[in-house]
Amino acid sequence: MDTMATITLDSLRKEFDNGRIVAVDDLSVGVEDGEFITVVGPSGCGKSTTLRMVAGLESPTSGHIRIGDEDVTDQHARKRDVAMVFQNYALYPHKTVMENMAFGLRMSTDLSKEERRERVRETAQMMGIEDLLDDKPDELSGGQKQRVALGRAIVREPDVFLFDEPLSNLDAKLRTTMRTEIQRLQNEFGITSLYVTHDQEEAMTMGDRIVILKDGKLQQVGRPKDVYENPANEFVGGFVGSPSMNFLDVVVERDGDRVVLVADDGSFSYRLSKSFSAALRDATHEDELRIGIRPEDVFTATEGSNLIDSTVGVVEPIGSDNYLHLDIGPDFIARVASDIEPEIDETISITFDESDLHVFHPRTGETLL
Ligand code: ATP
Repeated sequence: MDTMATITLDSLRKEFDNGRIVAVDDLSVGVEDGEFITVVGPSGCGKSTTLRMVAGLESPTSGHIRIGDEDVTDQHARKRDVAMVFQNYALYPHKTVMENMAFGLRMSTDLSKEERRERVRETAQMMGIEDLLDDKPDELSGGQKQRVALGRAIVREPDVFLFDEPLSNLDAKLRTTMRTEIQRLQNEFGITSLYVTHDQEEAMTMGDRIVILKDGKLQQVGRPKDVYENPANEFVGGFVGSPSMNFLDVVVERDGDRVVLVADDGSFSYRLSKSFSAALRDATHEDELRIGIRPEDVFTATEGSNLIDSTVGVVEPIGSDNYLHLDIGPDFIARVASDIEPEIDETISITFDESDLHVFHPRTGETLL
């Protein structure tokens, strides 16, 4: 195994249908050696195409891919020291688990048959699938199949792991178990990994860093906590976190050295501090803005400033907390403690700290503050 298995995507572009579809658009990302990077975004954003280009299953229209110091852009898939794990497992149905796992080794190493079998046995043992070695894939459960697919990738000791939605065919509980399993293996082997998923929670919990794509374009790359706290734009703010960030359209009014944000329908106003007002004035001269506030940053209050009255539509209990659906704006949700249980149609007062406010450009969606 090479010591430095970085992955560098440099202005990567992939067009289909003679340029009518731009699946990946000028994507530049660097993955550090041993890093686990999740790639996430809505359906059609170019996640799989990106991964397939790194694997050598698609060739880029332009741009470069490097693994370590080597430019692999034009290198055949088989020459690349990468192992890919797919959603549908891609096991050979007529081969046993042993044969499936040994097959990749035969392609990529010059071990003897007995050495190959020994290495498969060691890996199978480590993954708790040694009892399955003589079984055929159709005798296995979904979770077992995915363990075998993982084992087949690991036994090759590749420089790079590529995962394409490997857990999406599994039920919720097994998915959580397998997430932990993959993280354990990655910690143990420290193999540089790119992991594609459409599930933002999976991306956030598993990734050392997370790459967010939309329409083939990079929206943001960063540690999950940074992306959550400081989304680069409205799309990322809404995509990361569950339930989604609340968005409200406001008009900017001035009162001396203070800025007051007034709902575009006049239903509430929120007075900013002197320092926040100054920062906002430095950031933008727009007189209409879109603000974002996360459900978990909204709280109920009976006194103080900046109280917003709202009517409760639905109370959705999730055990530890309640989601209150409020009529402040479209799909506005407050996540509050489970002992806060207002009646439907009751009017309650809520507020939030200005430090939890996200401010976006009303047209470009770019984060202003
Ligand atoms: P999903 O989560 O639905 O798999 P994705 O983010 O992985 O989506 P891609 O599969 O990479 O997205 O597809 C990106 C875009 O490229 C889509 O518009 C898709 O229709 C298009 N596309 C992908 N492969 C091809 C192909 N072989 N021929 C034509 N268009 C393609």
